[in-house]
Amino acid sequence: MDLFYSDEHKAFRQEVRDFIAANLPDDMRERLRAGGFASKTDTERWQRALNRRGWGAPAWPTAFGGAGWDAAKQQIFADECAAAPAPPPHIFNITMLGPVIIHFGSDAQREYFLPKLLNADIQVCQGFSEPGSGSDLASLKTSAVREGDEYVVNGQKIWTSQAHYSDWVFALVRTDPEAVRKQAGISFLLIDLKSPGITVRPIISIDGRHSLNEVFFDNARVPVTNLVGEENKGWDYAKFLLGHERAYIAGIGRNKERVACAKALLTKLASEGHPERELAGWRGRIALIEADLHALEVTQFRMHGGHADMKLSPMLKARGSEIFQAITDVICRMSGPAALRADGIGGPTLTKSYLYSRAVSIFGGSTEVQKNILSATVLSLP
Ligand SMILES: Cc1cc2nc3c(=O)[nH]c(=O)nc-3n(C[C@H](O)[C@H](O)[C@H](O)COP(=O)(O)OP(=O)(O)OC[C@H]3O[C@@H](n4cnc5c(N)ncnc54)[C@H](O)[C@@H]3O)c2cc1C
Repeated sequence: MDLFYSDEHKAFRQEVRDFIAANLPDDMRERLRAGGFASKTDTERWQRALNRRGWGAPAWPTAFGGAGWDAAKQQIFADECAAAPAPPPHIFNITMLGPVIIHFGSDAQREYFLPKLLNADIQVCQGFSEPGSGSDLASLKTSAVREGDEYVVNGQKIWTSQAHYSDWVFALVRTDPEAVRKQAGISFLLIDLKSPGITVRPIISIDGRHSLNEVFFDNARVPVTNLVGEENKGWDYAKFLLGHERAYIAGIGRNKERVACAKALLTKLASEGHPERELAGWRGRIALIEADLHALEVTQFRMHGGHADMKLSPMLKARGSEIFQAITDVICRMSGPAALRADGIGGPTLTKSYLYSRAVSIFGGSTEVQKNILSATVLSLP
């Protein structure tokens, strides 16, 4: 999108590309290229390399150790990470919790957590969803009852990505069960996962991976100093965090990489002598998806450029998920039976990627829920 990228931005793209080429360990690049996720150790190594360069948190203000980049630089960086492929900065540490602590945390929380999040000295996970409280998140039941200088936490979280190797969980808990509006009785707590009374159990997803978990709290004691912001105001902070999460899940860089992969596959099929009548259909389909992706990128720039606000993040999330699923579907269909093989373009585990892509329209809030939010907050529909 040259519309947005000045000569300075183009030079920056080259700088990022050179940095990744020089610093991304080969084994990590190969693992990600093969369709794997970054492990805990991968994340530590890469996050620390980025942090040493001052790039650990693209959107954080420089006063807190972030890069303080404009929207164009953030997108260029995301594009180049996806193309390499290199892990993006830690999603839970950098994209979700960091901004909440910067905006709503205490000085002591900023001092303790921000440097550790930046350098992946600790890794955090997100304890929002519960059985029966996913789309209807505000109905969550995990309770935190204050006893002196501590909260006593009881309940269960589910679908907690990476909890099995995270050090802390940022959790929504119910601190006022009597609140008239259920949103008004929720608080945002930082909980050390090593605390007594916490059990993490694995959930293996349909793609065979262990990323998801259940987390149980049985009289876990959490210092009151780990409350973020004010008691019973956690819903406001959660909405702020979800705005960042949803804008991230739109995944424009990742979608560009998938479109490039589809085009490479098209070239390969042409070189293998597949007839034009077969290729033309795929070419048209890819072109339509790419046009949708450009439109999404324009929308994102409008949002980050200050012309709109985080109210639009559900739209980015819903549209980016649809595009990711559409392009993944095209790549799988173009590959035919090779989608099951371990050596095709698009990674050796295309089928696994396809299965994972189905989850993108669910996590961070399902597409249906994003549309409900947009209808209420943007379109003011009854
Ligand atoms: C891979 C993956 C990773 C995840 N990681 C995390 C994590 O790290 N931390 C965390 O807290 N959560 C995580 N989640 C949970 C995720 O946020 C929830 O799955 C999601 O919010 C949907 O909630 P649910 O699963 O309870 O589905 P439900 O809420 O039961 O929804 C079921 C279906 O009903 C539809 N539906 C529900 N309500 C409405 C409505 N009002 N109008 C129209 N349709 C509706 C939904 O769109 C969906 O299709 C993860 C989920 C997945 C799949």
